[in-house]
Amino acid sequence: MSEYDIIIIGTGAGGGTLARYLAPSGKRILLLERGDWLPREPPNWSAHDVFVDNRYVSEDTWFDERDRPFQPQVHYFVGGATKLYGAALYRLRAEDFGELSHHDGMSPAWPVGYDEMEPYYTMAEQLYCVHGARGEDPTEPPASAPYPFPAVSHEPRIQQLHDDLEAAGHHPFHAPCGVMLAEDDMPNSACVRCATCDGFPCLVHAKSDAEVLGVRPALAQPNVHLVTRAEAVGLETNAAGTTVTGVVVDHDGTTETHSADLVVVACGAANSARLLLASANDAHPNGLANGSDMVGRNYMFHNSAAVLALSKEPNPTVFQKTLGLNDFYLRGRDVDYPLGNIQMVGKSSAEMYRGEKPLQTKLAPEWTLRDVARHAVDFWLSTEDLPRPENRVTLRKDGRIALAYTASNEKPKEQLLLELKGLLRHLGMQQDHLHPRHAYLKNDIPVAGCAHQAGTCRFGRDPATSVLNTDCRAHEVDNLYVVDTSFFPSIGAVNPALTAMANALRVGDHMLERLGARRARPEAAHA
Ligand SMILES: Cc1cc2nc3c(=O)[nH]c(=O)nc-3n(C[C@H](O)[C@H](O)[C@H](O)COP(=O)(O)OP(=O)(O)OC[C@H]3O[C@@H](n4cnc5c(N)ncnc54)[C@H](O)[C@@H]3O)c2cc1C
Ligand code: SF4
Repeated sequence: MSEYDIIIIGTGAGGGTLARYLAPSGKRILLLERGDWLPREPPNWSAHDVFVDNRYVSEDTWFDERDRPFQPQVHYFVGGATKLYGAALYRLRAEDFGELSHHDGMSPAWPVGYDEMEPYYTMAEQLYCVHGARGEDPTEPPASAPYPFPAVSHEPRIQQLHDDLEAAGHHPFHAPCGVMLAEDDMPNSACVRCATCDGFPCLVHAKSDAEVLGVRPALAQPNVHLVTRAEAVGLETNAAGTTVTGVVVDHDGTTETHSADLVVVACGAANSARLLLASANDAHPNGLANGSDMVGRNYMFHNSAAVLALSKEPNPTVFQKTLGLNDFYLRGRDVDYPLGNIQMVGKSSAEMYRGEKPLQTKLAPEWTLRDVARHAVDFWLSTEDLPRPENRVTLRKDGRIALAYTASNEKPKEQLLLELKGLLRHLGMQQDHLHPRHAYLKNDIPVAGCAHQAGTCRFGRDPATSVLNTDCRAHEVDNLYVVDTSFFPSIGAVNPALTAMANALRVGDHMLERLGARRARPEAAHA
């Protein structure tokens, strides 16, 4: 008999959500997390510690296609990347589930439709306390329930931006935010609506992350056990290669092996591929579950740009990530292909610009960095990048990750930027000032900014072209599942976390049915 019913490797958006969903079933669940609990400490909210010293970025080294080392912007903690995320919790658009013709080619259809995902999006929004307003964004897909919490209000400068956009004929909307904020009862609100949210850990545990709303509630059940500082380094199988029989773990330098009836990999797109590739054996010579040669391929991470515009009036906004614009999501004004999503990103500060030499030299001496920060209005633009087999994770001889990546859809990305530039004069901004802001990506090497990584183990109906079936179970290994963003066959142009969470719930239902376990829906969290 296996030690556990289920082992979940990785506790981020995919693994942490799945753990919470499965926890009330009474099944024996082991969570393995290579990182530790993210310390709650004053530096959580220090821009210098977070953005200059990279305090919470892993010390991993990965290598690009020319074997140049770089430090990936990944975060190994209980809760994974969600500990640092901006908590903009978007659904993909219904169109993203079908084929979409892009400037650089076709974005493939998903093997499940939006209809099948919809109930799980609704459940994920409830679990993660999403605030939003339906009916404002014309690209919004149909939903079976309102957002569980009212939209986070705009501060005056962003409300002005909203009004100016509307006056110019656009459709700005309240961005979906995963924060535990009660604006009508601030004395009792967990979230204090601070300026250090997007890219920072939340010191007061009020961000809807996978530690606070996934792992911690799961651990409240006696049948769930978490081991931190436990890195899965290999998966063993039976001789036929059809069943995972052991999860080999490096736990603080000691090797342990654990077994379970079902094994779930949720290490983030690059690390999940790494684990499968590192688990090659006689039955799976190219890597576990890799008969299709698709493990590691089709890596995507959004073709994104963080830019700042300079407002003529000061912008004293504290919590800025409240507005989005999808008017160019499916087509541009003069072109019939998708450009992408525009949203606000956390308000920048002078501290964050440190080391951003291009910004400094472009603006000095007219503007000091403090002036820039006072007037900055910060946008985040995302264009879909297409799944390409040659964009891939492979293993170097020393077991470390090599990541080959060439961006696609550069032209639509440029056009989206031009659309935003064209809007500036209607929005009370300096027209000639739209500057790249590297703070969010923190690194000039594009591949290092892997916050939105996805692909690498895509799901599909055909075992020749996909790694997972529609239940996110490996085609070739009966008890192996992957539930992080690896399963995405395409990434759309909105932030990926809610889709990973919703899919984890969908796969959770399948697993409960397979195990004959009771389906006790977890209660939604309360703000
Ligand atoms: C700064 C930042 C801002 C972001 N903002 C947003 C946003 O606003 N909205 C949004 O939707 N998305 C955002 N994202 C992206 C979002 O956080 C990710 O898409 C999401 O967390 C991915 O979930 P995942 O389960 O695939 O991986 P992760 O959440 O990264 O979880 C993977 C987990 O696996 C662990 N792990 C890795 N390898 C092993 C191993 N071998 N053994 C054991 N454990 C292992 C890791 O430590 C980690 O805890 C942001 C990300 C960053 C970094
Ligand atoms: S805005 Fe709210 S959720 Fe975000 S870091 Fe501040 S207190 Fe936490």
